[in-house]
Amino acid sequence: MKFSIILSSLRDCKPRATRVTFYFLLLTLLASCASPTPTAPVFPTFILITQDPNASPTPTPFQPSGEITTSLPTFTASPIPSITSTITLTPSPTLTLTPLPPTLVADPATTAVPPPANPSRTNYILSATLDFDAHTLDVDETIRYYNTTGVALSDIVLSVQPNRYGGAFTLSAIFQDNAALTTYSLDDQRLTLNLPQPLQPNSATTLGIKFKINIPAKANEGLFGYDFNQIDLVDWYPFVVPHEASGGWVLHDPMPFGEHLVYDVSDIELNLKTGADVIVAASAPAEPNGEWTRYRLYGARTFTLSASDEFLVAESAVGTVVIRSYYFDGYKAAGEGILYAAVQAVSIYSLKFAPYPYETLAIVQTDIHDGMEYDGLVFIASDFYGQYGGGAKNNLVSIGVHEIAHQWWFGLVGNDQAMEPWLDEMMATYSERIFYEFNYPRYGDWWWQFRVDYFSPSGYVDTPIYSGGTFRAYTNAVYLRGAHFMEDLRVRMGDENFYAFLKDYAARYSRGRATTADFFNTVRAHTTADLSDLMMNYFSGSY
Ligand SMILES: [Zn+2]
Repeated sequence: MKFSIILSSLRDCKPRATRVTFYFLLLTLLASCASPTPTAPVFPTFILITQDPNASPTPTPFQPSGEITTSLPTFTASPIPSITSTITLTPSPTLTLTPLPPTLVADPATTAVPPPANPSRTNYILSATLDFDAHTLDVDETIRYYNTTGVALSDIVLSVQPNRYGGAFTLSAIFQDNAALTTYSLDDQRLTLNLPQPLQPNSATTLGIKFKINIPAKANEGLFGYDFNQIDLVDWYPFVVPHEASGGWVLHDPMPFGEHLVYDVSDIELNLKTGADVIVAASAPAEPNGEWTRYRLYGARTFTLSASDEFLVAESAVGTVVIRSYYFDGYKAAGEGILYAAVQAVSIYSLKFAPYPYETLAIVQTDIHDGMEYDGLVFIASDFYGQYGGGAKNNLVSIGVHEIAHQWWFGLVGNDQAMEPWLDEMMATYSERIFYEFNYPRYGDWWWQFRVDYFSPSGYVDTPIYSGGTFRAYTNAVYLRGAHFMEDLRVRMGDENFYAFLKDYAARYSRGRATTADFFNTVRAHTTADLSDLMMNYFSGSY
């Protein structure tokens, strides 16, 4: 079954499939299409929702959190067409990509099937209504949190990034296991829920949060907010931050540069309603769900959206991974150029690191500095689209593939972005080198000069975001000296061992979080070479 047929059938409610089984499935999926009147949101059946996210506050007596054996929602995910079908996308009529050399197209076997929903992961179900013109977002959020910390928890801490923007975040109500929870505090980015009863290890609880966001105007080329034709929603819903045995909840202070958030992987479902003329770029594929559009993303750090009524879209694929480039009028060559580079990047990274971790990749033009990565979605600065003159020797491609590499080094293998930012930033920067090495082998010297040595980098690779001084000094130390360290490490290890290390590192910490110790333990599993001089040269600590 062709994925394109399924999608078009679902969109216009005109099933054209001939197979009886598929037709039956489609009828089931489309039952709500038959009704001429708006239907209530159809909430997912793959997880038992223990609380209606649309419910008004009710005086339901407090139910103590049960043990996992009694309260565990049943995960009976129905197959997602896009992962069980062979995808043969029809090229967009506006897109005329030059066919890739055969060696650049990853074997479909190397591309990912998303992991199934995992009952021990935090599960988010969000119902959100976006008023694009009024810049408002109304959200009912249900969080199923399973205590894997090994200790009883008297509180749960959530990150609420929109609350850092004055007046943007309004909290209406919080529930725990269907009972209103009033013992909470919201202070800047930190929402602390003081639980009436401790949540025991290996127990689960269900939290409900109703909130509204008055989306702020984008400031200083920051991401979160609206401008004249686009709304970027990043880190927009409250999420439970990681908890560590030493130190407890992990929620670092923000900095003007560098990322301060740390995420565990989670399973996320978003049901979104917005205007018919609004095009949404998202971290996951869209499925019709009555009058809602549903997105499901498994094993990811965060779910990200960008909405515009002016997006143009170019589309391609690598194996089963659908890649879409969202750009604006006047930037067609750049929008298609970065799509072509993305196909090359996903192909080579899937072969050299690990299968691509998600079902889709969205590349979104927006008004920011440089670029920014999220699971299944990357933003790239509009300036780079404007500067694009074709080819691969430019910021659009080098920064673009950097952000795409973060799908592996941030998304698949997480880390503490504030205290050990080199683990994702050094890796993403060196992945640019790998992109050029395999796709444009004659551009190696150009890349080192253009992206690294032009800035005469100095500083220690293991610099936290709080110790870097200026943005330039921080990136010189972490990103650029990091690239030189990786090159020296590779020469010391030999190519075969180096690439074996990269694959092993991605596999060992897949959907987890790696630390500095994890990085070097994996390196040393692949070489017996003495690294002490490299450590002295590049790192402030000895590992
Ligand atoms: Zn980066």
